[in-house]
Amino acid sequence: MRLSDRIARLGTETAFEVLVRARALEAQGKSVVHLEIGEPDFDTPPHVCEAACEALRAGATHYGPSAGLPELREAVAEDSMKRRGGRATPEMVVVTPGGKPIMFFAILALVDPGDEVLYPNPGFPIYESMIRYIGGVPVPVRLLEEKGFALDVDQLCDKVGPRTRLIVLNYPHNPTGGVVPEAGLRAIADVAARWGVPVLSDEIYSRILYDTPHVSIAAMPGMEPLAIVLDGFSKTYAMTGWRLGYGIMPASLAQVVARLQTNATSCTATATQIAGVAALRGDQSPVDRMVRELRRRRDAIVEGLRSLPGFQCARPRGAFYAFPNITRTGWSSRALADKLLEEAGVACLSGTAFGEFGEAHLRFSYANSMENIQEALGRIRAWLERPAGGGSETRRAQEELAASRG
Ligand code: PLP
Repeated sequence: MRLSDRIARLGTETAFEVLVRARALEAQGKSVVHLEIGEPDFDTPPHVCEAACEALRAGATHYGPSAGLPELREAVAEDSMKRRGGRATPEMVVVTPGGKPIMFFAILALVDPGDEVLYPNPGFPIYESMIRYIGGVPVPVRLLEEKGFALDVDQLCDKVGPRTRLIVLNYPHNPTGGVVPEAGLRAIADVAARWGVPVLSDEIYSRILYDTPHVSIAAMPGMEPLAIVLDGFSKTYAMTGWRLGYGIMPASLAQVVARLQTNATSCTATATQIAGVAALRGDQSPVDRMVRELRRRRDAIVEGLRSLPGFQCARPRGAFYAFPNITRTGWSSRALADKLLEEAGVACLSGTAFGEFGEAHLRFSYANSMENIQEALGRIRAWLERPAGGGSETRRAQEELAASRG
């Protein structure tokens, strides 16, 4: 079957591919610790599950409106005003199966072939995939480790010009856990307003922050007509498999995005949306407990990674990923990720899965039990220090690296 030319430009998310490879190794009887996939290992709060079950029993088994159920759009708008400030009305909300479709729909709705889109690199791979897919020109904004992976605002502002059609931001950031300080967001908001460029602000990790409260660019002066917020339930309420997310955007764009949804999926599952109302309006203590536990794991994994030979690790400020620099191991990130999976039994992702500027890093998801995190750290250490195989290869790679640096 002949495929369209554009399909060759479609990228993917390596996490799902590594998961398949890890499962294949497990099927052969090998043990693998899974630190590759970005999903909380917590259960969805019971009152949320109960709301969905009750809804199904009460007959919520039919199509709903494409933009989402009115009660969920209202709950999302209320929650957003409470957490972000700024104005949000139900007409500005579109509910989707996961937050991801908002990326797809917003880029489809706003970007024509040849238009430039700024996006973080390293960053969530689907931004670049979607930009290329529709024929846009991806313009990476490099995140700098020495700045704690906060976006380099000057660099971003310098890249905005007459061909810029969209700026994609993501904070707290996947894969680095970096955040953008408020002053930086103000500078981006100013430049976006000056050029009239919309901003897609991916805030899917906005409830998973350890040091500072969340500040949204969407609530900044001049941003209401330009901001598209992406958020959802996957991470905050441990609901990845439910597929429930949303976008908040100017009402005129929301109508277009809802039409895209009519074309793609018709609507988001009705009972799932009723569960979403229960999540937003119900007890928030499970979220607080999860974030407290994730902070404990963050501290443990950062300390553990820093103690491994050749690893350096910045402290993530949000989300649930550590992104250590592995330059001093002498390995490239892809080769080391492969070796750790195949020989050490630890699944993680190469930094290059998040774009070219992810080289020299690995991504570990610490949304896993403390026991598994410690097991993974022990396996990596044993592999790096192994006298035959890993150890000697590592030393050889380090010697070659030192020699090449003179
Ligand atoms: N945005 C970022 C930065 C993510 O890391 C993810 C999931 O990993 C998503 C969006 C998509 O989340 P959802 O499961 O709601 O589609």
